[in-house]
Parts: sequence; C-alpha cells; structure tokens
Amino acid sequence: MPDFPATSFLISAAAGRQFPPDGGSEVAFAGRSNAGKSSALNAITGRRALARVSRTPGRTQLINFFDVAGGGRLVDLPGYGFAKVPDSVREQWHALMQHYFNTRESLAGLVLIVDSRRGLGETDVAMLEWILARDRRAMVLLSKSDKLTRAQSQRVLEDTRQACADAGVVVQLFSAHAGSGVETARAAVREWLAR
Ligand code: GDP
Repeated sequence: MPDFPATSFLISAAAGRQFPPDGGSEVAFAGRSNAGKSSALNAITGRRALARVSRTPGRTQLINFFDVAGGGRLVDLPGYGFAKVPDSVREQWHALMQHYFNTRESLAGLVLIVDSRRGLGETDVAMLEWILARDRRAMVLLSKSDKLTRAQSQRVLEDTRQACADAGVVVQLFSAHAGSGVETARAAVREWLAR
C-alpha cells in the first residue's frame, strides 16, 4: 500500500510571482522530457494521476505545486531537452529555473529523474549543480530500469554514482512500472519534507 500522505494540486506557476508562499519545505522533481518524471511522481505519491503522464511534449513551461497533507509541498518542474524548441522558450525555461533554484528558501531537495538508458545529460548535470550550489539534498532516480538487463543497470548505476561521487548525491535504480526503488525514493522525500 502507498505510504505517502495525501497529495493535492495547489497551483501552476509560469513566473515567480505565482509561486505559493515560500514557507515550510518542498521537494522538487526534474527531468528531461519523457524521462519518466510524471510516472515517478505518481508512483512515489501512490496517486494514479497526480502528474499527468505527458502526451504533448513541449507545450507547457509551468511549475506545478502540490500540497502534501501534514506539511510540505511537491514541485513538478517543467521537463527539458525537447529537440525542436524555439530559443525564446528555452531561455524562458532557463530563467524560470534559475529564479526557482536561486530564490526558493523552502526548497529542501531535488529528485532528478534520468532515463537509465540515456544516463546523465548536460542539463541534468546543470540541475544538480544548481541544487548543490544551494547546499540542498539531491537524489538521482535512474528510471525505467525494468528495460535494462541486470548487468546494464549495474553499469549505469556505477557510472552515475561515480559521476556524482564528490557531491553526496544519492543514486538509485528506479522503475515506476516494476515498483523498484519507489520505497527508497519515498522515504527520502518524506525525510526532506520533515526537515
Ligand atoms: P515525463 O515526460 O518525464 O513526465 O515521463 P512520463 O512519466 O510521461 O513517461 C514517459 C514514457 O515512459 C511513458 O511512455 C511511460 O509509460 C514510460 N515510462 C515511465 N516510467 C516507466 C518505467 O518505469 N518503465 C517503463 N518501461 N516505462 C516507463
């Protein structure tokens, strides 16, 4: 049974002035588009459709905030890495992310969803640098690990751990479909929210 407090949609924000009040703790989720972020959010919260599994890449550049019963928020950051995005949209995304990471006091940690078949990309690394620059917690979930053989998943786990070694980032194999890594991720999120 899902062991996560009830979670409900709060607000979608396209700019800092629309963010909810910056109190308490919140945990942000980020990832390249199609990395499996919505599926991870749904698996961790035990909600079937908290974050809509994306069908229309690149349409929205919104930060979605969710309220967690008993305290705290989850934050669904807009996906990145779309092939055909105008520079203006990319710049808008960058400005919104910089604003969020640089100013948000309640930001306790980042859960970064990385497709286990691709490994860490340039923007993934930038996200980790932003969160670590604020001295906050970070966890990398290597998603869709059910698609890899055991040997492949061990290799990507090892490579990613090495890439993150100095930064104290937790790296975890994850599959929303198979349920692996979900409990570990959930425990980390709960701990960060209770900070
Ligand atoms: P988002 O764009 O990062 O929010 O990614 P989604 O959660 O929408 O997932 C993108 C695609 O990957 C969808 O087709 C999902 O069904 C698939 N997917 C997500 N998680 C898993 C997983 O754990 N295993 C497998 N095999 N596919 C997954």
